[in-house]
Amino acid sequence: MAVAIELLAFYRALFERSCDAINALASALNSHYNRRGFRMTGREGNTIQEPFRRSLGHAVQWFDVLQVEMEHRVESILTQSREHISAARTPTSHQSETQSDHLENHQPNSNSLSPQGTTELAQSSCASLLVQRCPACFGGNSHGRPLAEGGDIHVATDGNFHHRHRRSAGDCPAFYEPVYFLPKAQVDTVGQRIMKARRRQPKKHKALVPDEAIDQCETSYEAADGKKQKTAMDSFDDTGVMALICRHDIPLFFANIDTPGEQQKYSIALIEHLFSLLPSQANVVVLYDVGCVLARSLAQYDILDSKITSRVRFVTTAMHAYGHEWACQLIYNPRLSVGLGLSDGEGTERLWSRFIKLIGIERASSRQRRLWLIDRQAAAIGHDMRKELGSWLKRRMRKGVGEQGDAAQEVIASCGVPVAELQSQWKHQRAAQLSVRAHAPTRLKKELDSVLTLQADLDSSERALQAARATIEKDCVSEHALSVLDSMERSQNRLLDKIETLYASLNVQDKFPELEGVHLEFVRILLMARDLKINIRKRAIGSFFEWDKLDRAVGGKDKTLGTKLHQQTRKAIAKRQPALMAAIKKFNKYCEQLEEHYDPSYAIPLPTPLPTKLADLRSDQTLLQDVWISPSTGEIPLWLEDSSVREGIRALLKRDRCREEQCRLGIEADNMCRWFGLELCTVELALRQPQNSLFHPILQHRREAILELQEQWPTHLASTVRYTESSKRRRVAGCPVVCSLPSENIAEEDGENAEIEVSSSLVEPPDQILLGDVLIGGDIGDNDEEEEEEEVAPPVVDLQWNAPRSLKVDFIDVSSNALIISGNIVRRTRPPSDGFPRLTFEPKDIEILGSKEARLNDTCINGCAALLYSRFLSSHSDQIAIFSTHDLPRIRYNASDEVIWRNMSWTRYWEKSIWILPIHRPSPCGHWVLCTIDLTSQRLVLFDSLAEQRPWKNDTQDIIKLISRLFTIASRKCGIPRRHLGDWTANPVLLTPIQTNGIDCGLWVLAQLAALLRGYDITGLQEIDMAAFRQYLRLLVLRIPVVTL
Ligand SMILES: [Zn+2]
Ligand SMILES: [Zn+2]
Repeated sequence: MAVAIELLAFYRALFERSCDAINALASALNSHYNRRGFRMTGREGNTIQEPFRRSLGHAVQWFDVLQVEMEHRVESILTQSREHISAARTPTSHQSETQSDHLENHQPNSNSLSPQGTTELAQSSCASLLVQRCPACFGGNSHGRPLAEGGDIHVATDGNFHHRHRRSAGDCPAFYEPVYFLPKAQVDTVGQRIMKARRRQPKKHKALVPDEAIDQCETSYEAADGKKQKTAMDSFDDTGVMALICRHDIPLFFANIDTPGEQQKYSIALIEHLFSLLPSQANVVVLYDVGCVLARSLAQYDILDSKITSRVRFVTTAMHAYGHEWACQLIYNPRLSVGLGLSDGEGTERLWSRFIKLIGIERASSRQRRLWLIDRQAAAIGHDMRKELGSWLKRRMRKGVGEQGDAAQEVIASCGVPVAELQSQWKHQRAAQLSVRAHAPTRLKKELDSVLTLQADLDSSERALQAARATIEKDCVSEHALSVLDSMERSQNRLLDKIETLYASLNVQDKFPELEGVHLEFVRILLMARDLKINIRKRAIGSFFEWDKLDRAVGGKDKTLGTKLHQQTRKAIAKRQPALMAAIKKFNKYCEQLEEHYDPSYAIPLPTPLPTKLADLRSDQTLLQDVWISPSTGEIPLWLEDSSVREGIRALLKRDRCREEQCRLGIEADNMCRWFGLELCTVELALRQPQNSLFHPILQHRREAILELQEQWPTHLASTVRYTESSKRRRVAGCPVVCSLPSENIAEEDGENAEIEVSSSLVEPPDQILLGDVLIGGDIGDNDEEEEEEEVAPPVVDLQWNAPRSLKVDFIDVSSNALIISGNIVRRTRPPSDGFPRLTFEPKDIEILGSKEARLNDTCINGCAALLYSRFLSSHSDQIAIFSTHDLPRIRYNASDEVIWRNMSWTRYWEKSIWILPIHRPSPCGHWVLCTIDLTSQRLVLFDSLAEQRPWKNDTQDIIKLISRLFTIASRKCGIPRRHLGDWTANPVLLTPIQTNGIDCGLWVLAQLAALLRGYDITGLQEIDMAAFRQYLRLLVLRIPVVTL
């Protein structure tokens, strides 16, 4: 059988687009001939089934071998002319320098990523193989940028275990020399070296991250990948592919994975191979899922030459950073690392999705053929991606540097903290969170586990006892039975006390002296919250990945999904995460409990709740951070306590990354332009050599392809003019080509929409991590429909730090001649009255009011507020709703609509024009403030006896959120028309502190509340009156009649 070359060439193009399609083509040919009346028959006249498949397959394979051979020849011609040109350039370097000086004057920063640009760079270039794969990354002619500033070259490596080969499919004779795959022998040599090195004692090395943290990273990684790998070895001989790609996702090299277990050899072999092709000064940053673990291995064992290890730096990939310990992220998360720009290392995911179509075919091909398929596909993809480098740069410039950088700059400007302060706070934060002490929890947890289990058991036996008492008391009044119960309860209490003693005897305080005095229950919840948050992060990555793929698919050339459908799909992905949402709700519950149990003297920063919407979660600033376990010594640093500092730090990091990215893009644009000129020279030169006449058509074609780049590659960073100049100057062989660096004008450029196509449906989501027992039990089932809600942007609130000019001052008389009642204080209960539900004051609450120094608790504030309301009941009172101290936290902790309605509907807030909201600020030292929400004038009136401004920034935002949610709920529950909230203003009533001690804030809040109820703007009481006011409140409570049952 003969096959036309044209058909084979056409098939080759088809292969590059759709991978292997031999079967389809063979069957199509067969039907085509059948329809035209031709049938393939054997010698005996019998019809042959599938007559073309085999022969066509062979023809394609051998045609490709021919193709490869021709490419080799052309490449060797071009290599000759390249050498010729570089030889020609060297002697005339003096002349060319003067030429280039003239051009380089505009670009002082082009050679260094640091704004100072002090580093001396060595003149050197990468191996031609690399330069041809990605001119942007490897086309530079100077290297040696320090690793601390991001190095010269960024690459990413990642393994994929879908590209397997079935043992039973066998092998065939060698017919092809792969250009992307490293030879098996090379990889195996590295493997043996690792084995040998690991037999020795690990070297002492200066660890940047506490070992405990890296151990955790390693464990969770092994759990995810190791097992899958081992089981696959049963029926597959090749189980995956490890890839090394450049910053632009262009494939550089592959290693075939054919052993279970130890996977480091593949990535190390790839890195080593890369270094063999780089000049000796080049520094490389490698992005890898478990970069932290690999970095430690290389520091501990002599696996790689020190000439390489001193020139390589590892970071994790941006998305996978979520799965790592926070301490690890501080060093290895590319978003937090100086010099990384916007490199994210996620390109391997994008590359793998381009290879998806091969997976099925590879499994059943021969081993050789599998490598050939991937290798040839990689060449086609790499070539396409090289062509698209121009749009890559433009996209990065616009979406990355432009949009993200502007947003970050805005946050920095609005956070009100100077940049220098943010920088120093970030330094402090890193130092504190990298300390070994910050890693106490892992060890601490182990020791506490036993105690915690014991306590859980005792808790359940206490519940059993209470149940028993309830039943017994009902039916049997035997004195004996009751006394036995009493004694059981006493011993139960003694056991509970002993737990505290046991906890104390663990000497936790010796190892972690800061935890002395922190209540066991608090530590327990804190530890659970910490574990859960790590788990939430791991879970969240999966959804974020899915979103990314979807977004890329939508943004791609072929808009497969309309916007509406896109939105729905996003929602569907969010909906498929019930476990994630349940975990977040549980976490927020922990946060709430922690705040309840909180004592400011612990000085442990409270964790902040997480949003329950996927989109918000992704942009949430606190998601990445671990729950802080150890108390901070001395004053709580601003980075922990002040959210505007935290926001500022994050924006600052983002801005820095964007600036680094801009420098890097400038260098890359330069490199591309230089390559363009040189490559054009090369082809021209080759065309002029008479001995190459046989290859003229191919070389001509090359030249056209390069010239085509003149339309596709120019950017603001390297303009069309530069490219035209380069192409003009090509006639002078050996002329250096230099491009201009970015002007600051990086505005948009139209006409670029090339996005990488990604098939969104076929990629398996990253490994789902089991949530374990954490979620068993607990009320996490409530399924609210918030995702369905239309997004309404919350109203803007304008905080102006000046007090209204005239204020009506309330000179209330709180002196009393009543006798101080002493003796037995018993519980007071007020039945529901004046619209308030039942109130209960326990003796301990009344004691607080009796003491001179105790801070008021929630019960005192909420209870006394109700009593004051009844005391000063007047005609305008029915316009006022008094909220409880628990209401704002519910908003902060994203309580469901049901919960909020259940707790707040009794105030009938939707009928009132003024809402009074007492607010607790748990950190740094527990402080009460009050906000009056005036719905008529859309004004927030802020009362803080310490007259602090900064904390209000966040509080007012939460308050606006509360207002907006309450109206949404009211409209749903009782059909109140939704109101447009418009813009709000906020003002303080106090500009100077009226409180000098650390105790009275609760009293001040109640004094202000009394003034508001009496129709005034501000209380006229002085600090000296507070003792009397306390007494006044106590009397209000004691006037509640004691009810005896
Ligand atoms: Zn590149
Ligand atoms: Zn890590």
